[in-house]
Amino acid sequence: MKLQSLKLYDFRNYAAAGVQLHPGVNLIVGENAQGKTNLLEAVFYLSTGRSFRTARNQELIRFGAEFADLGCELFSGGREQSIRAVLFSGRKPRQLYIGGVKQRSATALPGVLTTVLFCPDDLLVLKSGAAGRRKLVDTALCQLRPGYAQALGEYQKLYDSKSRILKDYNDRPSLLEPLPEFNYRMAQVGAVLIAYRAKFLRELSKQARLYHAEFSGGREELSLVYQTVSTVTDPFADKKTIFQQLLDHQQAHYRAELDSGQCLSGPHKDDFETLLGERSVKAYGSQGQTRTAAISLKLAERELFRADTGEEPVLLLDDVLSELDPGRQDFVLNKIVSGQVFITCCEPGRFTKLGRTIQVENGSIVD
Ligand code: ATP
Ligand code: MG
Repeated sequence: MKLQSLKLYDFRNYAAAGVQLHPGVNLIVGENAQGKTNLLEAVFYLSTGRSFRTARNQELIRFGAEFADLGCELFSGGREQSIRAVLFSGRKPRQLYIGGVKQRSATALPGVLTTVLFCPDDLLVLKSGAAGRRKLVDTALCQLRPGYAQALGEYQKLYDSKSRILKDYNDRPSLLEPLPEFNYRMAQVGAVLIAYRAKFLRELSKQARLYHAEFSGGREELSLVYQTVSTVTDPFADKKTIFQQLLDHQQAHYRAELDSGQCLSGPHKDDFETLLGERSVKAYGSQGQTRTAAISLKLAERELFRADTGEEPVLLLDDVLSELDPGRQDFVLNKIVSGQVFITCCEPGRFTKLGRTIQVENGSIVD
């Protein structure tokens, strides 16, 4: 899939901007706070129906504007297509269109435009908290599997409702009445999430191991180990078994949840461990090893997308190259020769010979 053009009205700091895109590397350059990441964010929004920086659409609308309108034309699935999103301030729901046809949800977007985003935070993802690793898995799976996106959305709503019950039941004990129903459904939907995550991480691990081996000259063996609710003995078991095991865990933590007022049981606390040989990267990885492993993970993600959809996903690299030493920059650049790529950087230096350069200045595309 290749983006051909992008148009933005009142999106972030862009009042009105349009840009023709290169089918290979698009280098987005400009000083700090000019709108480079905003451009990537627009592309990401069109492919997922959400931002990677905020959950609030309001922040995406230019200060003082009533709505933001963003759209792209692209070649995907063997034909010309278009995607458009209109975001409103206030309560009016956003509107999404594919080929001019209004969509009821964002689930069809990734089938038309798939993106893999790589930003400096991702370089730290293996060292920081579990939330970042869950986000990595969720973002990828939501694009790859519409069923997952749906299940995750439902799980989040259930989680929010249960959290409110646990927080407020002391003042209003009647709130506890529907709790068993929430628990039951959370275990059902949780089993679906676990099944998807286990399979995804197994595939990601296989691919990332290949990249990391190449990167480290065959000296290091990378693997990912899925960590979920402790009563789940085999995340590849059938969903009924997992469901039962999740209920068992909930039951064992029933009292603790009431006492703490928090939702303690369920796959919202999932994580994965990254190992080099037998050793945990989080605990023992050097800076270089951690970065290399993170790059391998991202390249693996792109590979899975390609294998799954039969199309090369669009790669979004936000400031990530400038964070890497020349050896790692070259590794990444050599591995992304095919497909369309958007790279933001302040100091283009050695990259300007790639594809085309898009110069960004204070919310305008000047070149
Ligand atoms: P850096 O090199 O520092 O990463 P950047 O070019 O990637 O910079 P962006 O994050 O794309 O910068 O843009 C940031 C600018 O956009 C900031 O000046 C910010 O104030 C502005 N901005 C963000 N949201 C809005 C909005 N809703 N309306 C207007 N301007 C906004
Ligand atoms: Mg930026």
